[in-house]
Amino acid sequence: MRYFSKCPKCSNPVKENQKFCTKCGLNLEAEFRNIYPADFVSKFLNIYAQIDIEKNNDQLYSQLGELFLSIDKPNEAIPYFEKALELNDKNLKTILNCASAYFQIGDLSHSEFLLKKALVIDLDSIQANEILFDIYSKDKTKYNEAVKIAEKIINQKSDDLNFLIKLKDIYLYLQNFKKAKEIINFILSQRQKLNINEKDLKSLLKNLIYANIKLENYDQAYQLIEKFYDQDEDLSILTYKTFIYSLKNEIEKSASYFTRLEHKLAFISTPELVDMLSFSANKISKFYLEKGNLTLAEKFAKIATSLSKTEENKKLLAEIILHKAIEKYNSSKTFPALRLLINAQSIYPQIKYEKREIISKIYNKAKKQTIIYSIILTLYIIALIIILYDYRIWQNLKDVKNKLDIFQNYPAILIKDEVINNSTLFINSKEFSNQNFQTTPLQTSTLIHLPPGSYKFEFKPYSSNYLDTSFILYLQPGKILYVDFKFKEKPSLIGVITGSNVILRAEPTTLSPIIARLNKGDVVTILDKLLSENLTEAITLKETFLITGFTKVPLNRGKAIKIISERGDYIEAETDYQGRKLRGLIRTSDIEKIYSQIWYKVKTNDQKIGWVFGKFLQEQ
Ligand SMILES: [Zn+2]
Repeated sequence: MRYFSKCPKCSNPVKENQKFCTKCGLNLEAEFRNIYPADFVSKFLNIYAQIDIEKNNDQLYSQLGELFLSIDKPNEAIPYFEKALELNDKNLKTILNCASAYFQIGDLSHSEFLLKKALVIDLDSIQANEILFDIYSKDKTKYNEAVKIAEKIINQKSDDLNFLIKLKDIYLYLQNFKKAKEIINFILSQRQKLNINEKDLKSLLKNLIYANIKLENYDQAYQLIEKFYDQDEDLSILTYKTFIYSLKNEIEKSASYFTRLEHKLAFISTPELVDMLSFSANKISKFYLEKGNLTLAEKFAKIATSLSKTEENKKLLAEIILHKAIEKYNSSKTFPALRLLINAQSIYPQIKYEKREIISKIYNKAKKQTIIYSIILTLYIIALIIILYDYRIWQNLKDVKNKLDIFQNYPAILIKDEVINNSTLFINSKEFSNQNFQTTPLQTSTLIHLPPGSYKFEFKPYSSNYLDTSFILYLQPGKILYVDFKFKEKPSLIGVITGSNVILRAEPTTLSPIIARLNKGDVVTILDKLLSENLTEAITLKETFLITGFTKVPLNRGKAIKIISERGDYIEAETDYQGRKLRGLIRTSDIEKIYSQIWYKVKTNDQKIGWVFGKFLQEQ
C-alpha cells in the first residue's frame, strides 16, 4: 500500500507501506482520507487489495492511474501508469492514458515519446493522433507535422470546433490560404451544428477575407466586405476594406474607410497591413490628383510615403508638390513656387529630370525678375527662408532666432552675401560699409538695420559684364525685406529684329508713342534691357479678333492691348483702333502678357533710339 508517491506537505519520497512521512512526520493515511472523497478512497483501497493478491497485474495499476486521471490528478496518475507499463509495455490503453497524463502536466516530450509507441501498435489510433496534434500545434516549428496528422483524423474531428479553428490558424500561419479557406468555409457551412459564437464568427470571416486577398480572389473578398458590418472598427478589417475598395477602383469608399483608421495608423505595425494601406493611400492620392484636389492628393501621398518610403510613393508626393508649384507659378507667386520646387526635389531628386521643362520654366521666371523676393515678411518666415536656402543654419536656428528677436522692433533688409560680396551698395546714395550701418551677419546673408522709412538701394556690380540694379523699398517697423536677385547680364551689342512690322516705342511700355516700324532682319545696336513690371499690358501673338458687342475687329500680330479683366479662355481688353479706344474680348491663347518680359532699348541704323519688345528681337 502506498498513499502518495511524495509527501504532500514536504515532497519527501514515500515508500511502500509507509504510514508517516520520515521527514515531517505527516500521517499519510489520515491525509489521504482527508484530501479525497470517501467513494474514491474505497475504490482506491479495493484495487490495492487486489494488487496484494496479484502483484504483477499491470491492469490493476492502470486502473489506479485512471482513477486519478478521472479526478484530474495527472501528477498522481503517472507513477501508476509507469508501473503498469513496466509490467506490460504493449497495452495501448495504458500507453495512451499515460501520454495524456504527461500532456496534461505539460511534459510534451514524454507524451510524444509514448504516442509514437502507441502508433507503432495502432497506426490509426484516433486518440494518439489527437494528442499528438495538440502537442505539435503548440510548437510553430512542428506545424507541418501537425498538418499531416490533422489530415489523417479530420473526418473524425469534423464536429470539433476547437480542433478546426486550431487547424485553420495553422494553415494561415503556414500561408496555405487555400486550405485555410476550405476549413473556414466548412466551419461556416456547419454553423448551426457547431454552435459558433459571434466573436468566433467575426474572426472566421476576417480570416476568410484575408485568405481571399492572399489568394487574389478579390471578387470574393469584395462580396464578403460588402456584407461585413463591423461595429468595433477592427483595424485589420478597416484595412481590408480600404484595400479591396481601392483595388476595385471604388476610391471614394476606400478613402472613407481610410479616414476612419487614419488616427490609428501609428498602431498598425503588421508589414502586410502597412503594405495594403500604403497601396491604398497611393491610389487615393492619384484619384484626387486627377480630380485636381491637390490638398487631399497631398495628404494621402504624405501618408503613403510615411507608411512606406518606396520610390513610387516619393515620386507621387513630389509630383503633387510640383503641381502646387505650378499653381503658384501660374498665379505669379514665383517665390512660393520655387520653395515648393525645392521641397519636391528634396523628396524625389529624379523629378528634375522627369519634369525638366516645367522646372526650368519656374527657375527661369525667378531669374528673370529683377528682385525675386522683395516681399514683406514677418521675422519667422524669414527664419524659414534662411533654413530652406541654407541647411547649415539648422544648427544655428536658435542663434538666428535670438538675433532676429533683438531687432524685432527695427526694420531691416536681408541681403544675400553673394550680392553684397560682388557689388558696391549705395543706400540713399551713401556707400554702404559695416561701419556706418548696423548689420547682423548671418550664415549666407547680411541683415542691415535701418530706421523706418523709404530707401533707395543701388547695387553696382564689380564685374563690368553686369548691369547696375536699383530699387526703392519702404521699411516698416518689425518687418524685414528679403532681397535676393541675380545681376542682369549686360546685353550684347547687336540684335536682329525677328518679326515684321515691329514697333519701336519711345518708352518701355505699349502705351508710349510709336517712333518707327522695323522690318524682319533689321540689325540694331542694343543699349539697355529692362523687365516689364506692368501687369495689364499685353500684345497679340498672331492675327486675331477683338470681339465687341456688334462686330469682330481684326488685329495684327504685335498689337498692343490693355488687359481689363481675365475670363478664362478670353480676356476683356482695350486697344486703339483707328484713333478710337475699343473694348472687347480676345482669346487668351492669342495674346502674351508683357509682365516680366524683356524690353530692349535699341538704336537703329538711321540713329533712332527707342524700345522694342523682347519677343521680336534676337540678341547676337
Ligand atoms: Zn513530509
